[in-house]
Formats: sequence, structure tokens, C-alpha cells
Amino acid sequence: MILLDGKKLRDLTASRLKDEIVECLAESAAPIPQLAIIQIGDLAESNSYITQKKLFAEKIGAKVLHKIHPNKVSEGDLITEIEKLNKDKKVHGIIVQLPIPEGLDKQKIIDAIEPTKDVDGLTAINVKRLSANDKQAIVPATVLGVISLLEHYEIPIEGKKVVVVGRSMLVGKPLALALLNKNATVTICHRHTQNLEEHTQQADILIVAAGCANLITKDHIKEGQVIVDIGINFVDKENTVQKISPIGNKPENEIPKKRMVGDVDFEAVKDIVSAISPVPGGAGPMTVASLFHNLVETWKMQW
Ligand code: NAD
Repeated sequence: MILLDGKKLRDLTASRLKDEIVECLAESAAPIPQLAIIQIGDLAESNSYITQKKLFAEKIGAKVLHKIHPNKVSEGDLITEIEKLNKDKKVHGIIVQLPIPEGLDKQKIIDAIEPTKDVDGLTAINVKRLSANDKQAIVPATVLGVISLLEHYEIPIEGKKVVVVGRSMLVGKPLALALLNKNATVTICHRHTQNLEEHTQQADILIVAAGCANLITKDHIKEGQVIVDIGINFVDKENTVQKISPIGNKPENEIPKKRMVGDVDFEAVKDIVSAISPVPGGAGPMTVASLFHNLVETWKMQW
């Protein structure tokens, strides 16, 4: 079994991007590539993803401009800020950290991003370009990460039967489109799919982005399959950890320690498949690396 190691490929990508930036800066008077991240609210999950992006940027010699807004920010204020960033020649990529609070029109806000700075590839124009297999399309980071992982491990996509579980606008649908553009035969499954295992068992490559721990068991797969697990779920660990109160060092309620798992029961399928990405350490690290790949590409086009 081949482990599709996203951390290893992330590090290789970081070193390639770093060299590319150094080389381009030496040859021109271009500003350092900079990603603007717009955060609304203070979700712990978002804070952690933003920290990972900042660390990656530092590693490759890029900059991050982190703009934080309160939950109650208006759509108008966000759009005005995005329009300013669109014009800023020192900003080469803009993302809105998702999820954003309910009540804000997510697509309207994202569509304010100038498509050439849309490094998450989520504006309507970029989605249309991806569906038209237009070379100008910026492929969403998670999608690009999965495809890079498959290509790095020389797993053929063309002509293969690929089953994608999940049909969100963020992951499942753009992934299916990108794989179709690579000449795969793609089936999309979702919450309403009946007899999921009958579809997943047909796949040469099974890609799962459902957000449902242990959705895919050994009954869903066939021998020799390639599996990419995009899901991120947090489940209780068997043992618990004591949280110590900052006041008086008194133990608070025992809270269960959480463990990150994907959508696939890794242990149950690992000896049946030919290749599989782990969680953590598979698709996740590649999402960050691919976002900065997109940033470096848009940067090169802006000077
Ligand atoms: P989403 O909730 O928007 O979409 C989930 C999709 O899965 C839906 O289309 C739904 O129909 C389908 N689904 C849910 N339960 C199912 C079931 N039991 N059977 C079949 N289909 C089912 O989520 P999303 O934003 O697309 O993200 C999916 C997962 O991928 C989440 O766990 C998320 O955290 C993870 N994710 C990971 C990365 C990464 O970098 N690794 C990036 C984005 C999302």
C-alpha cells in the first residue's frame, strides 16, 4: 500500500515555491507576494487554519495581510474592503476565510474579489472557467491539492472511474469538474444517494469529502482502489483529559480529548487498497500548499 503523504508533498511544494519566489525577486523589482485573508468572527477552527497559512507563507518568503472583522460587520463594509484590496498592487491574492456568519451573503462577498486575485478559485467567474475547462481558471486549493497528490504519486486519472462522495460548492463539485477536465469518468454521490457502496465499489479512485467519520468502511471498497480522504472530523478519544481552571487550579469538568479522523475507516481498508491518503497528513497539508501555489501564479501574472 502506498501512503499518499500530503506532508511530504507540502514540504516539497514549499521548497519549490520558495526557490521560485527568490528567483523572480532577483530578476525584477516585483514586491514580495502577499495574500490577504479576510476573517469574520473568531472561530477557533478558522484561527487554526489561518495560523497554518501564516506559517506556510513564512516558510516560502511570502506575506500575509490578516484583516479581522467582528461578526456583525456589514456586507457593504466587507465589499468596500475587498475592492480596496483588489486595487492594492502589493496584494496578489485575496481569500475570505470560511465559514462566515449566517446572514451574510457568502457568494456576493466572494464575487467582489477580482478574479485574477481569487486564489481560492471560488468566484462565480472562476467556477464558470473551471466548468468550461478554461486554462485561465484558478483551481480551488483543496481540489488542486488532491490532484497534485495523485499526480505526484503517478496515479493515472485519464480514463479512470472516479467516484466523489460529496457535492458541495467548496469541494465535491469543483473536484468533480477538475477530474472531468482530466478526462476521468466521474460519479458524484451525496447524502441522498441510495446504496452508496454499490457506487463506491465501482471506483478506480474514490475521493471522499462528506464530513462524516467512518462513512467508508471495508464494505464500500474493492481491492486495489486508490482512496483520497478529504474529510475532517473530530471524535472523542477513549481517554479523557482534565481541564485545569485558571482560577485556583481547580479541575473543571472532565472534557473528552478529541482526535482528528477522516471520512474513511483507515485501519479497516488500508490493507485492501493500493494507495490511500491519511487524516491528518493527506489532503489537509496539500490544501495550504496549493493555496500558495495559486498565490505565486497570480503574483507572477500581476507584474
Ligand atoms: P459540506 O457539509 O458542505 O458537504 C458535505 C457533502 O457530503 C454534501 O454534499 C453531502 O450531501 C455529502 N454527504 C454528507 N453525509 C453523507 C453521507 N452519509 N453519504 C453520502 N454523502 C454525504 O462539507 P464540505 O465543505 O464539502 O467539506 C466536506 C469535508 O471535507 C468536511 O469534513 C470538511 O471539514 C473537509 N474539508 C477538508 C479540507 C481539507 O483541506 N482537507 C478542505 C475543505 C473541506
